[in-house]
This record gives sequence, structure tokens and C-alpha cells, in this order.
Amino acid sequence: MSGSVTVIAYHGIGTPPRSLDPGEGEYWVTTDAFLRTLDLVAGRADVRLTFDDGNASDAEIATPALAQRGLVGEFFLCAARLGAPHFLSASAARDVRAAGMTIGSHGMRHRPWRGLRGAELHEEIVDAKRLLEEAVGAPVTHAACPFGSYGRVCLSALRRAGFARVYTTDPGRADPSAWLQRRETFRAGDDPRIVLSWLDGAPPLLERATRAAKETVKRWR
Ligand SMILES: [Zn+2]
Repeated sequence: MSGSVTVIAYHGIGTPPRSLDPGEGEYWVTTDAFLRTLDLVAGRADVRLTFDDGNASDAEIATPALAQRGLVGEFFLCAARLGAPHFLSASAARDVRAAGMTIGSHGMRHRPWRGLRGAELHEEIVDAKRLLEEAVGAPVTHAACPFGSYGRVCLSALRRAGFARVYTTDPGRADPSAWLQRRETFRAGDDPRIVLSWLDGAPPLLERATRAAKETVKRWR
């Protein structure tokens, strides 16, 4: 895709400070692996860096590492987790933003958006956006779908709520001006050099086979 970007999705970084949800361990990466990916993509204009779930490692590890390299990241927080142990507080979210990063919505309670209707959908899309905006004191215009789960109804709700960009976890390169954008997920055990294959387009067959095997593990995202 000409003029496309690679959007990388990270989750927790470092040693998990809490007991993880089922399947979540697949998405926590070591600090060393994370830093190596940053060094591989630093200076590339066709890469975006995103962080889901609002873990405390966003502020403790990711933000300083990005700032040191002159990079920016987009952090997607769950509104109901603000201030919960081992997640970002409102104050920490403001600090992340003050360091030049952006804060986006990962919904209210970290549940799959596909299939939600009515009050449950409204809470995830509209109420979460408002709470996050109140917490950081700025508009929240980007969203990332929890578990990569989305459907026609939730996308319509996101449009009505005024979101300007929505990220999935469907792999592949993204059109930087598109409303709905794909992301590549960096996972536990991934060789940091995998990001180079994302930059150049489709991964080599061997890596695809490895990743396909990993798909049998229950998905988190
Ligand atoms: Zn998530």
C-alpha cells in the first residue's frame, strides 16, 4: 500500500504487577523487547505506536522510553479502570499527555464491543469518552476496540460519538487518513525484529506460521 503506515499495538510492559486475566499474559512484553522495537522504528515516519489497556507501565516504562527517543505514542485507557491498582490514575494520564502523548478510549470496562446494544453500548462508547475527557481535561477523539472486537453497530456509535479514528487489531498496514485502521500486535515472545517485517509489508512465511500457531491461544488484546 503506497503511503501506508504500520500501527503497532502494545499492551503491558515489564513484569506484570497484578494477576492477569486469562490469556492476557500473551500480550505482556518484556521491557528489553519493547525498547528494542522502539530502537528499530525510531525515526520512521511511517510508524505509529499505540498502547492498550491503561496499565501503569504506560507511565512508568513506555512514556519515558518514547520521550527519550523523540517518539510519541497513543494510549488507550478504560475509563472504569482509572485509578484502580496497577492502572493509570487520572493524574498519571494527564502526566502522560503532558509528556506529548495522546490519550484515547478503550471503552469503559474492557469488554468486547461487537454485539453490544443500548445502554451497554452507550456506556462503552459515549460515557467512557466523557469520563476520559474529564480526567485528562482534553478532547478524546481516537478509540481502540477492546479484544479487536467490533461490528457495524458499534462503529456507527463511534461515528455518532464524534471519534475521528478507530483502531482494530486486524493485522496489516493502514491508510493514515482512514477512519478505521489496522494494527500489528507485538506479543510476548515475539522477536523484536518482527517489526521490520511489518514495515516492509507482509511477514515472511516462517513468521506467519509461528503467529498462526499462537492464534490457538485464547485471545486477549
Ligand atoms: Zn485491551
